[in-house]
Amino acid sequence: MSKFAWWDKWIEKKKKYAKCDSIFADEDVFNAKAVGTGLPPIYQKSTFNFQSAEDGKLRFLGKSKSGERPYARIYTRLGNPTTEYLEKVIFQLECQHIIDNALDADEKEPTIGVLITSSGMGAISTALMALLDSGDELICGTVYGCTDSLLRHWEKKYGIKTHFIDTTDTELVKKTLEENPKIKGVYVETPENPTLKVNDIRALADLTEKYEIPLIVDNTFCSPYIQQPFRLGADIVIHSTTKYINGHSTSVGGALLGPWEFMLNYAFGFYKDLGVTPSPFDSWLNAQNVQDLSVRVKQQCINAFEIAKFLEKHELVSKVIYPFLESHPHYERAKKQMRMGGAMISFELKGGYDAAVKLMNYFARHDTPMELAVSLGSVISYIQHPASMTHSEVPKEEKERMGITEELIRISVGLEGSRILIEALDEGIKLAHK
Ligand SMILES: *Cc1c(COP(=O)(O)O)cnc(C)c1O
Repeated sequence: MSKFAWWDKWIEKKKKYAKCDSIFADEDVFNAKAVGTGLPPIYQKSTFNFQSAEDGKLRFLGKSKSGERPYARIYTRLGNPTTEYLEKVIFQLECQHIIDNALDADEKEPTIGVLITSSGMGAISTALMALLDSGDELICGTVYGCTDSLLRHWEKKYGIKTHFIDTTDTELVKKTLEENPKIKGVYVETPENPTLKVNDIRALADLTEKYEIPLIVDNTFCSPYIQQPFRLGADIVIHSTTKYINGHSTSVGGALLGPWEFMLNYAFGFYKDLGVTPSPFDSWLNAQNVQDLSVRVKQQCINAFEIAKFLEKHELVSKVIYPFLESHPHYERAKKQMRMGGAMISFELKGGYDAAVKLMNYFARHDTPMELAVSLGSVISYIQHPASMTHSEVPKEEKERMGITEELIRISVGLEGSRILIEALDEGIKLAHK
């Protein structure tokens, strides 16, 4: 017996429609879905009038009407037409192959559900609250600083224990699952933040499927253009749309996609009760920005690869981590599940903490390209120092285990030309060593 009421139905559909050999969407199909057929207006409304008493009753029962999703047009915390448009687009970008396969099989029921949230953390907390009860356990890889701290708070407050382990070591995940029968899910990001280690989604999915527990993948670092975890066997996919999907650092938002019954009967309840609903304006903005996702991300990846190659040759740089560099320990694995290498680079500067701080201050200047800022995925490049910034809350010994050293620096590469960025990095690194 599975630990989840929705499991058996999902696994049947996952095998039929979701998991497949091809690792990513056809580029033209992807672009057509991203562009869509016209943005909706911004429904700047909190409540929607019903057509009749019967209409109101049916909406509260979660009945959908002429293409609307369940619970549409009641009250914006439960759903808003502008946000529902974005839901549809993100759903198509991650799941078009599932839609096509299900249609071919004349499937009547939806396979995957999607919710847009007011932040990436909103999507993460909704998913994990819907999944875990007190006393349950979770496996978690090296993840976003707030995901990490959320789980540490839950352990103290609700007795939900998280096994923070190196999930890129599939054997270790297997052993941890064998030894801990209360584990109800495996949660990963790939590439991991900020160490850019690559989790083997297919291998982890095979493993979690045996244990009848979901594999949850935070796909923020890749965006659906580079990586589509459902194809590889993931059960739940999360995005912080704040990053590549928005792409311009103009709003904070998230997306949660998962098995239909899980979404409808478990996640939706927390979504509406926690109140992680986005504003219609932010949904509209993201629906517009996602239209050119692939063009942006492709060029960001090209720029990042150039910069990674430059840094790898630099005499003042001791280590460069970029998934599509042959020196990356998971190069083969990355090639098997990612369309391109991504636009995130981590590297270690010789000279330790002091040199890292000097480099940060170089990029804090207004006459240098790149901003000294956290976040990622923007057309503007960002540079930051995880040990003192994004991952400062992670306990010291955990940071060491994860490989977040004092000299580790993370860059999110944007759309400034790579030559400009390389020249600035070279100047900044040299100044940091003066
Ligand atoms: C930013 C980020 C989050 C959190 O998203 P917010 O939109 O800031 O709430 C989660 N996961 C990853 C990988 C992120 O980069």
